Amino acid sequence: MRPLLFLLLLAIGGTTQAAGMRFSLVKTAETETRDAFTIEGGAWTEKAIANHVAVLIEHHAATLLLDTSLGRQVDQQFESEMPWYDKPLLRYGKVTPVRDQLDRDGVQVDRILLTHSHWDHASGLADFPEVPVWAPYEEIEFSRIAPPPAVLPSQFAHAIRWMPFEYTNQPFMGFEQSLDLFGDGSLVLVPMVGHTPGSTGLFLTLDDGQRYFFTGDTSWRLEGFTGPKEKFWISRNMVDNDRDATFKQLQRVHELMREDPALIVVPAHDETTQRSLGYYPNWIE
Ligand SMILES: [Zn+2]
Repeated sequence: MRPLLFLLLLAIGGTTQAAGMRFSLVKTAETETRDAFTIEGGAWTEKAIANHVAVLIEHHAATLLLDTSLGRQVDQQFESEMPWYDKPLLRYGKVTPVRDQLDRDGVQVDRILLTHSHWDHASGLADFPEVPVWAPYEEIEFSRIAPPPAVLPSQFAHAIRWMPFEYTNQPFMGFEQSLDLFGDGSLVLVPMVGHTPGSTGLFLTLDDGQRYFFTGDTSWRLEGFTGPKEKFWISRNMVDNDRDATFKQLQRVHELMREDPALIVVPAHDETTQRSLGYYPNWIE
């Protein structure tokens, strides 16, 4: 009996100690493009990599996925619905869907959060039909009416378990409104209206106090915030729903980075920033 009791105590102890939050960038693919196409004033002679990732977050209370990146059906979605003239600019390389990577390790997701409903962030929704999807009302509405290339209707054709949310008037990190997901300040959503009507940013704070800010597509590149610099004008016209509002968000994050130099800002497609953090199954904790 004694060894059994010991094992039991060990198991209980192990459970209580595994409380720390952690996250991992699940990379599904990359798009090779030109520096100038991604940012105002960029070089046409320089290559730029746009990453496609989802963020897997293990919180004490739940396992979350921020965005779904390119999914199992992305080729079908892209070929049938993306306008032919947009395809060359948006074409991606080899895809390893998030669901494939997580299933391999038996990881179960409890909740999906969307930074916004654009095709390259929502493609994998269909791979997680059983998981509730959190988004502001404005973004759910946008996903129903926005045309390609921004939104591909087939990605929202299945029965999505939408969980519409509203922000509270609790200010956070310079934003007037916020939503503290678990009431512990570790995961806080903020409205970043501009790129889309319901674009959302996520502040993630680890137990040691290191804070990360996932900014979706407000800028594709970190330089967009350090500048601040807008996207290249053709790209901007193609993807930013409200140019002025998007620029205000760039300025806001620019200020935030000056006030809090320790903050790590992670734009959804910035390959340099993301490579420095590593990819799933590498965890940041
Ligand atoms: Zn976008």
